Amino acid sequence: MGSATLERRLDIDPERIGRPRLDPHERLLCRFYEPLFLLNALGQTRGNHTTTSFELDRGRAQVRRFLQNLCFICDFKKGGSACTAIGLEELDTCYNFCIASNRETGKIAAFLKTSLGILKSGAHLTAADDDREESRFLHLCLEFAADRIEGERKCLCKSIKDCLSTLHEQSSGCDSKLIEWLEVAMNLDDHVQLCIFAYETRHSDRVAELSERGMNEEKRLGPASKRSSFLLLIDDMKDLSHLLESHTVYAIDALSAAPPPTRDSHVNLRGILNRMFKKSDQERSKVKNGLLYLDKVGGVFEKFLLPYERCSPEVHAEVQVLDHFHKMRKSFAGDDCFVACSKPACFCCEMYFKYHPARATLSYSHHKIWTNWSPPNLNTFDGDNPTYTQQRDILNLMTNELREQVITQVLQRLPSNRWHPDSMTNITSIRCPDVTSLGLEVPNAGNTKTPAIIDLTSCPKSYNRPPETAFPLPLNEDASFNDTSDAENGGVSLFDYCPSTCT
Ligand SMILES: [Zn+2]
Repeated sequence: MGSATLERRLDIDPERIGRPRLDPHERLLCRFYEPLFLLNALGQTRGNHTTTSFELDRGRAQVRRFLQNLCFICDFKKGGSACTAIGLEELDTCYNFCIASNRETGKIAAFLKTSLGILKSGAHLTAADDDREESRFLHLCLEFAADRIEGERKCLCKSIKDCLSTLHEQSSGCDSKLIEWLEVAMNLDDHVQLCIFAYETRHSDRVAELSERGMNEEKRLGPASKRSSFLLLIDDMKDLSHLLESHTVYAIDALSAAPPPTRDSHVNLRGILNRMFKKSDQERSKVKNGLLYLDKVGGVFEKFLLPYERCSPEVHAEVQVLDHFHKMRKSFAGDDCFVACSKPACFCCEMYFKYHPARATLSYSHHKIWTNWSPPNLNTFDGDNPTYTQQRDILNLMTNELREQVITQVLQRLPSNRWHPDSMTNITSIRCPDVTSLGLEVPNAGNTKTPAIIDLTSCPKSYNRPPETAFPLPLNEDASFNDTSDAENGGVSLFDYCPSTCT
């Protein structure tokens, strides 16, 4: 059925429905996506950002942080296409960095090889060489992330322009210094200078003033002495050089996604309730009435049907790494079944890991639904095939959890959770309730250096010099939100984020 012919209206109680869904795999997928789309229509954000407890032994925590920061520097584009996941395999003779990304694995694997080479060569340098090595590594990372930084720069400029126009409107003469400062920021085209500026001013009075005036909330300043992902990698290398003594990088072949679900004649309210409840279940009519009410006041059914027309499923990077390890029976280094990822896991990835027999751990989740999420595609749907039965079992458990959440939300008439962005950068700090720090703290590890405090107005000339002579750029490790503004992956710009407009 072509999408042009689809109605935007959900049938409530149709007189006729078509043939049953005979294909078991198609049925499985339809039954999974149905409550996923419905829950998304009730509210995409299912909770606050979470983070894994890192109350681990120092060595294991440090390896996790190292992998997490590697993912961060590999994610070179805004949006989700370059989202990167790494699993560290331990072989008899070497460590193998198994890497996958949503859509850019080849380019990212090549960058990771180069980065690990630089980190390895810097692991045994003397203190005198440190600055040069840090600078070289930093410039490599900034060059690789040029697309992403440029995207952030454009968002920043747009927001500054909006801000300036408001300030000019309200101008009482006392904002001239703030206006001047914003104009300096807007004219920073050079990526290195821009990053330095962002880092150095993230806790400044100016940012605090803007934050206070813009959000009308008290400022929340993090410790200024934290190190950036770039520099933490170098710090950690001092203790983890054994990982790179003998290592390889393995780019995991991209897994194809399951076909998008079809909106067939079974997608109607009666059918949805039939699949959710037994006939005698007393909650059935309450949920039916609740959904009809929510549709009347909020157009829930139209939102529910939309992904059937737009869904373009893809297998997220962390799922690719997990399935690769499990299928190939690979051993995680140090028996730590941990998959690092450059972005917090989405709601579905988190559930997939929860119900996967590998019992692997993800670092954190943004608890938001992405309707393009897909399990790996399967070629065989034989009930005796363990790969199929494994996926069937996982999807059934996920489907149950999705249905439970739909029922709970409808029965309790819960409001949608407040929206929040998906990702964290390590640059600015923005208020958000109940968000815990995502800095992967490692007790007593590294972090002994005090970062240089750099004022752009007295910036050493070396900042503009080639990497060989440039001074290292300290960025911080604070938790902060970043946009993932790719339409297909959702999210809006950090600088477009205004809590007062969120519902
Ligand atoms: Zn995901």
